Amino acid sequence: METRIIKCDTEAFQPECVREAAACLHAGGLVAFPTETVYGLGGDGLNPEAAGKIYAAKGRPSDNPLILHIAEKDSVNMVAEEVSDKAWLLMERFWPGPLTLVLKKKPTVPAETTGGLNTVAVRMPSHPVALELIRQSGVCVAAPSANASGRPSPSKASHVYEDLKGKIDYILDGGSVDIGIESTIVDMTGTVPAILRPGYITPEQIEAAIGKVEFDPAVFSAATDIKPKAPGMKYTHYAPKGTLSIVEGDREAVVRRICAMVEEKQAAGYKVGVLAARETADRYRADTVLTIGCRAEPVTMAARLYACLREFDEEGTEFMYSEAFGGDSLGNAIMNRLLKAAGHRVIYAEKKPAEGLSCREQ
Ligand code: AMP
Ligand code: MG
Repeated sequence: METRIIKCDTEAFQPECVREAAACLHAGGLVAFPTETVYGLGGDGLNPEAAGKIYAAKGRPSDNPLILHIAEKDSVNMVAEEVSDKAWLLMERFWPGPLTLVLKKKPTVPAETTGGLNTVAVRMPSHPVALELIRQSGVCVAAPSANASGRPSPSKASHVYEDLKGKIDYILDGGSVDIGIESTIVDMTGTVPAILRPGYITPEQIEAAIGKVEFDPAVFSAATDIKPKAPGMKYTHYAPKGTLSIVEGDREAVVRRICAMVEEKQAAGYKVGVLAARETADRYRADTVLTIGCRAEPVTMAARLYACLREFDEEGTEFMYSEAFGGDSLGNAIMNRLLKAAGHRVIYAEKKPAEGLSCREQ
């Protein structure tokens, strides 16, 4: 299959640029498109065959459900029932935007789209290309991130092409995305709403709108006996091809520890990379040193995270060490993705090497 790339200038956006791709979606084809979070791979979410094609193109496990994307808030009624007042409040406050709600599904949504669950995840994106594509296609667009399963999510069209060329019909190229990490997912089906995946919309913002929310216990845990409520969160995700470890601890100790490990791996003949904050990046002498951004600007760090992980791959990096980030809620969302990219391989800088390695390292 030939994958056609269509440029969609988001600044001077022309609705005609999505016409062909929208017709393709309507007819059951697959179209990758920019959203404000990451690029999505869209198909008709109420058509089991189209949903099946999404899983095949990405190599996605069939128990990992898809998020349905809609262009009007009221369209939620087409796919979900028993939508609570709190859910409506969140939609009013954050849609269009990077917030996904898990709701009780209507029978119209096929099991192929929800991975067999009786709930459905729904979001209204704010990106003009995404909204116009959904409107013109006339379908509810199931759209997981447009990467091959397990790879870092795509923040520009070339990432999508790299992973999915020849497997999908169209890529709408709207340049680099704004946010760079996936939407916050909130499960609205329990007594207390629960964050299943942290993202750009913070728990504080959600609590300000609807009161108490909790975190799904699996979000920051490496324990394998806690089953995440968002099935996709159980997979090693967003991972670069080499081995990534995160180094935690006092800032100076982290720098020293990473420098020592870089030296050791380079002496053994490996290509080594470091992912660092702007404040400390010039301290490292690895083959590839990538700066994710200033610690005080998590928004920049989120936007660069996946591009950095892909850049390590382009350089053929075999071992990568990342400083730990964090701080505010967005910093925590970045850490959540990094921990998964690293398969929860965390090294504590201040302990002696034998004690400091996590169980996976040992
Ligand atoms: P992606 O679209 O690639 O960002 O992945 C979508 C995420 O949403 C995955 O982690 C899914 O497991 C999660 N998800 C989708 N639908 C549901 C649902 N009905 N209940 C819980 N999690 C869901
Ligand atoms: Mg994904």
